[in-house]
Amino acid sequence: MTDSRYDVIIIGGGVVGLAVALEVTRRFPRHRLLVLEKEDRVARHQSGHNSGVIHSGVYYKPGSLKARLCVTGAAAMIEFCREHGIPHSVCGKVIVATRRDELPRMEDLRRRGEANGLQGLRLIGPEELREIEPHATGIQALVVPSTGTTDYAVVCEKYAELISAAGGSILLSAGAKAIRRTSNEIVVETARGAFSTAALVNCAGLYSDRISRMAGDDPGVMIVPFRGEYYDLVPDRASLVRALIYPVPDPKFPFLGVHFTRRITGKVDAGPNAILALAREGYRHTDINLRDLASSLAFSGFWRMARQHWRNGMGEWHRSLSKKAFVRALQRLLPEIQDKDLVPGGSGVRAQALKPDGALVDDFQFVTSGKVLHVLNVPSPAATASLAIGEAIVDQAASLFPTRERSVAT
Ligand SMILES: Cc1cc2nc3c(=O)[nH]c(=O)nc-3n(C[C@H](O)[C@H](O)[C@H](O)COP(=O)(O)OP(=O)(O)OC[C@H]3O[C@@H](n4cnc5c(N)ncnc54)[C@H](O)[C@@H]3O)c2cc1C
Repeated sequence: MTDSRYDVIIIGGGVVGLAVALEVTRRFPRHRLLVLEKEDRVARHQSGHNSGVIHSGVYYKPGSLKARLCVTGAAAMIEFCREHGIPHSVCGKVIVATRRDELPRMEDLRRRGEANGLQGLRLIGPEELREIEPHATGIQALVVPSTGTTDYAVVCEKYAELISAAGGSILLSAGAKAIRRTSNEIVVETARGAFSTAALVNCAGLYSDRISRMAGDDPGVMIVPFRGEYYDLVPDRASLVRALIYPVPDPKFPFLGVHFTRRITGKVDAGPNAILALAREGYRHTDINLRDLASSLAFSGFWRMARQHWRNGMGEWHRSLSKKAFVRALQRLLPEIQDKDLVPGGSGVRAQALKPDGALVDDFQFVTSGKVLHVLNVPSPAATASLAIGEAIVDQAASLFPTRERSVAT
């Protein structure tokens, strides 16, 4: 017995699930659409706990989904914010090299950015860096003028409003607990009833591998939660940072290194670091979930990853437990910053897919199985790229949808 029948159900009310839903309402306006979200509001996890940066696409391998969807998605995000009056700023950023051995990587970044079609990238010296960010020091910097900031929780609220206005339904406090598949329908059981659908899109973020298994599929990856912790600059030291100041990232690791972000609200924060969380929604050190921990430890890829990245991981833990070590990492970019200038800020947990061979999945990953599409890896810059990801996923999933009507051309 089901309460209702839908053409498309999306599990997950984060920025990706909502962007997919928005695209479904645009392309298939007469399809019955339902978004199931386990929390009592949208954007409760990654989409509401991030840095709020509209990434430019400078970091990603040319030709990858991340590169393509970030560049088109960033332009679409800026246009969306403009159209809907969402606060945003195209403030630009600087990536700062502080050691000579980082210079070849800076040059690689510049080449990557140009290959990805970014305009206005410039390598500058220490004097020009001081004109842009008077308190930053480095031996060279890459200026990325197209980077911006917004608030993705506000973006998600607007996505949700537009979905509802277009006739889609968003059901909150409705976590998917079981999924049954027959030859002509898929039934999703939740605390608020059972819902049947012709096609299902799994956008469950930190739980996307579990939802995949619930649907009878083998995701082939495990989601590893990496917590990112922030410090806030006290208000009278926020003037140390005009916009965004980043280090040169370590290419072996998918995270960008602790940086300074002037948020759209004017608040400046430092972080996030990247430490293995002991629970998928583990926002604090004390959050431990034995099931999450046991499933990580039982996955062969976890131990292989630990062997490859233990040194980096220890450094991240050290900076997490010792404010002094965190401040020392920041002083490389901003020598004036002191312990007393920083107070503990928020945190977020990234969903990062891990392969059995211990490699962290680098690119976005969407996998179709029968009438189900699983979104298995959408780490940063997925908030930036969300509108373009929504289009790409609907392109891939459209053939799974019932032929109720012809789609609207895009
Ligand atoms: C610390 C941090 C900083 C970041 N900074 C940036 C940045 O500056 N710029 C950028 O572009 N990206 C950034 N990102 C990445 C970006 O936030 C994520 O890539 C993006 O939010 C992923 O969206 P999502 O919808 O897949 O995941 P989520 O927002 O996590 O949404 C998944 C949703 O699924 C729901 N769900 C899970 N299980 C179930 C279930 N059983 N039933 C129903 N619902 C379920 C969850 O409650 C959740 O709401 C950052 C991420 C983090 C954590």
